[in-house]
Amino acid sequence: MSDASASDDRIRVAVLGAAGRMGTTVCRAVLAADDMELVAAIDPPHEGERLDDFGVPGTGLTIEMLSPSMKKRADPQVAVDFTHVEAARGNLRWCGMNRVHAVVGTTGLTGSDLTDLGALFDGERANAIVAPNFAIGAVLMMHLAAIAAPWFESAEIIELHHDNKRDAPSGTAMLTAQRMAQSSTEWNPDPTETHTLEGARGGDGPAGIRIHSVRLQGLVAHQEVLLGTTGQSLTIRHDSYDRTSFMPGVLLAIREVGQRRGLTLGLDSLLGF
Ligand code: NAD
Repeated sequence: MSDASASDDRIRVAVLGAAGRMGTTVCRAVLAADDMELVAAIDPPHEGERLDDFGVPGTGLTIEMLSPSMKKRADPQVAVDFTHVEAARGNLRWCGMNRVHAVVGTTGLTGSDLTDLGALFDGERANAIVAPNFAIGAVLMMHLAAIAAPWFESAEIIELHHDNKRDAPSGTAMLTAQRMAQSSTEWNPDPTETHTLEGARGGDGPAGIRIHSVRLQGLVAHQEVLLGTTGQSLTIRHDSYDRTSFMPGVLLAIREVGQRRGLTLGLDSLLGF
């Protein structure tokens, strides 16, 4: 397993999904970090194109596929995956088998995927950090929602994203509901008896917490957790206005993944919660 913690060496980072919205933002963040080196830009649909042409100038990197020759030349210590869930499954298998630590932001991974990743990233071959939301404010929102949950009888989550998001509900909304359900099992039943419009009450999430997904042009990533009890309600809201909001969390994960043995879910433990 590579040691991504060496303080005198820059961490060698490959970005998977390098031509995408998140991937280009990660490339720029890695380039701006003194302790990291961008060694490979992976994005098979754009193989052979120059990373410069995707708004990441000056690297001289050509976009490529995961391959033995890339591994030999670039020798990445950490791979950061912001792709699509079907692609991420294959990419992460490659990382595990090739002893490359993984930082995973791709959403839509199932419980069974996470079980597989736990076996693959066993702390011997390599480690992985998987987080559905790398924005520190969103991690705090989930943490605060779990603290608040036992004091309220009803809760609903509204997640709002840009109109190109392919999965619903968001991984953040699911994880928030799971954390709240673990924190309290005493929730009022849904009072709805008739649905004039199917789906009007949103998805039936963990512990019956309803999750509503909004997709709207102009948005980035936003979420409200609504909690109600007698005569009062509490709203916890987080807004990511720009994809740079995720970068401090991604860089933290790149720096930490070499020391966090096995599979780490979420950023909570990295932030000391
Ligand atoms: P995007 O469609 O803009 O980018 C995805 C990129 O992956 C594309 O360039 C595509 O060509 C590439 N790709 C496809 N197959 C690939 C493969 N096998 N290997 C490497 N690259 C491949 O999507 P996006 O908006 O950048 O979002 C990417 C993912 O990140 C989504 O799952 C999204 O939900 C998630 N996301 C997570 C966070 C977080 O904080 N965890 C934040 C924002 C977005």
